[in-house]
Amino acid sequence: MAFEEFETFDEAFSALLDKLDFKINEPFKDVQKVLCIEPHPDDCAIGLGGTIKRLTDSGIEVVYLLLTDGSMGTTDETVSRHELALTRLEEERKSAEILGVKKIHSLDFGDTELPYTREVRKEIVTVIRKEKPEMVLMPDPWLPYEGHLDHRHAGLLGLEAVSFSGLPNFSRSDSIAGLEPHSLPAVGFYYTHKPNYFVDITDVMETKLEAVRVHRSQFTEDVWELWEPYLRTIALYYGKMSGHKYAEGIRFIPGLFLHICPFAELI
Ligand SMILES: [Zn+2]
Repeated sequence: MAFEEFETFDEAFSALLDKLDFKINEPFKDVQKVLCIEPHPDDCAIGLGGTIKRLTDSGIEVVYLLLTDGSMGTTDETVSRHELALTRLEEERKSAEILGVKKIHSLDFGDTELPYTREVRKEIVTVIRKEKPEMVLMPDPWLPYEGHLDHRHAGLLGLEAVSFSGLPNFSRSDSIAGLEPHSLPAVGFYYTHKPNYFVDITDVMETKLEAVRVHRSQFTEDVWELWEPYLRTIALYYGKMSGHKYAEGIRFIPGLFLHICPFAELI
């Protein structure tokens, strides 16, 4: 049916969704590589550890893009920023290995001060153009009450980088370096309160927790005493929404609706 014949938004909306190549219920169909953007060295494991394990088990490559050095993540006054940054990168390598992730790009911006700037946006675009993933995942910058600016900035910058990475005139230095523009059909947000897709992680929950726990500098015995129940409760929350025991929730938005769209929240 032609769009001029539709009388209501609902009819047009559903026909529009059908027209898209990206299908919300099969976001990883035909995907060979996923780029997962994280503000700190433990965020991919905390937000998506179960999903990542399941993706790598099924042969999909997952690459991390770590934005900050994680050097603020301590209450121990005797640990220097430099020392902590090195420890955290080492922990991240171990965690990635548990989840089947072999490659980590690290941009090394200061923890708690990830700038919302053109420079960071361009660096993310360069990684997208180098890796050419079919899917990019990032924290949902609109998670209510999120108190960490690195998380909000990571989501916004990641989204903008995906929006601009297909534009040849954005960051000409990339084309001089031989990198081609790269467009994506959709983006996915983790740490979201409005998931529209769920991954059953019941079978890999313990592996996820192990991958989080190797971030020992963050999860000391007393911290873990509260964080293990917290992470299980979050997985049960997404599980309750989706009919599984443990789940992770992701919000996918097709590229078309990432600009001027008044109904993106309905997707
Ligand atoms: Zn974080």
